[in-house]
Amino acid sequence: MAHIGVLALQGDYEKHSRSLARVGAQTSEVRTAAELEPCDGLVIPGGESTSMLKLLDREGLFEPLRRFGARKFIFGTCAGAILLATRVENPEQPSLGLVDIAVRRNAYGRQLDSRVASIAGVGFGSMEAVFIRAPIILSTGPAVRVLARYGNDPVLVEDGRHVVSTFHPELSNDDRVHAYFLKKVTG
Ligand code: GLN
Repeated sequence: MAHIGVLALQGDYEKHSRSLARVGAQTSEVRTAAELEPCDGLVIPGGESTSMLKLLDREGLFEPLRRFGARKFIFGTCAGAILLATRVENPEQPSLGLVDIAVRRNAYGRQLDSRVASIAGVGFGSMEAVFIRAPIILSTGPAVRVLARYGNDPVLVEDGRHVVSTFHPELSNDDRVHAYFLKKVTG
């Protein structure tokens, strides 16, 4: 059984553990580099990317996460997507640079802080997506595959081992994205 850790420093991590358990993963909460070590894959949840960066720094987890991502699988949602990106705007901030995308934080503006939308996926059909102060993926590198879009914007992409969504799949009654990530990990 694949062991998927959920980064549990801040934000919406408990619901990810439940989704992962429902699709058949062994899960654990990750707060230290030692807890990261036994994992085959990791979910970085939504939350507030600036706060998460500070906590990663304080816990000495930034470099261990980067090394983990060079060998193993990471799925980042919303703030997690921002942490994984190669370039971040609004404002610029450091990131792990593991997924070749440029993102703009809080890109849908104040009026549309959160919404539930129907998105169209490649191989997923249509799906309900919950956006909360979501970033926009401004551009994708040549190796990035777009798995779903909202209008023209990519909202679910993969870059090799890693998957990123700008929405919150753990908040829908639909475990297909978690199942997809687990399947990548188990091969
Ligand atoms: N707005 C948050 C950020 O910029 C992300 C929001 C979320 O994860 N739901 O970090």
